[in-house]
Amino acid sequence: MTLRKIATIGNPVLRQLARTLSQSELSSPPMQTLIDDMIATMHDADGAGIAAPQVYESVQICVIEIAKNPRYPERPSIPLTVLVNPVLTPQTDETFEHAEGCLSVPNLRAIVPRFCEIRVQAWDHRGENLDFIAKGLTAGVYQHEIDHLQGQLFLDRVQNTKTITTWADFDRFHRAAFAETAKRIVQRFGQ
Ligand code: ZN
Repeated sequence: MTLRKIATIGNPVLRQLARTLSQSELSSPPMQTLIDDMIATMHDADGAGIAAPQVYESVQICVIEIAKNPRYPERPSIPLTVLVNPVLTPQTDETFEHAEGCLSVPNLRAIVPRFCEIRVQAWDHRGENLDFIAKGLTAGVYQHEIDHLQGQLFLDRVQNTKTITTWADFDRFHRAAFAETAKRIVQRFGQ
């Protein structure tokens, strides 16, 4: 496994619509290596997820995992999940206020509205069908990662730019309020 370099905001690769993969392309050694490298890169950077465009590959793959992440202490865990060609369908109009950061947007966080419940249809790393519902904070993470495959960054979705903060100032001034929101969401949705 190789750690990949992470593209940062301003790099055009982050703004492209990533292309979908065929089953045969997905099973090819370069794509399987890319997936392994994305997982290693996400772990190394303490990310909650990473999308292929963030490592300069404009293809529809993202990986997600949360297991006691120091960057996101208020989050329930999510097992390692690989999504290929994901399609996201909101199951409600209702949104919640989600505090987000991104490995491609160094040292900034902000509040982003995210759907409370979504359906995700995708392939896993072997091309097997996945079809599941995600809710609450977990749904927020999926929406963030799948946005990357459409060339969208979380800053594009910020409605109140006054919520933009550095990570240090998030801890200092905003973490307590978000922890309350997060607790309410987890109590309601179980994730
Ligand atoms: Zn991101």
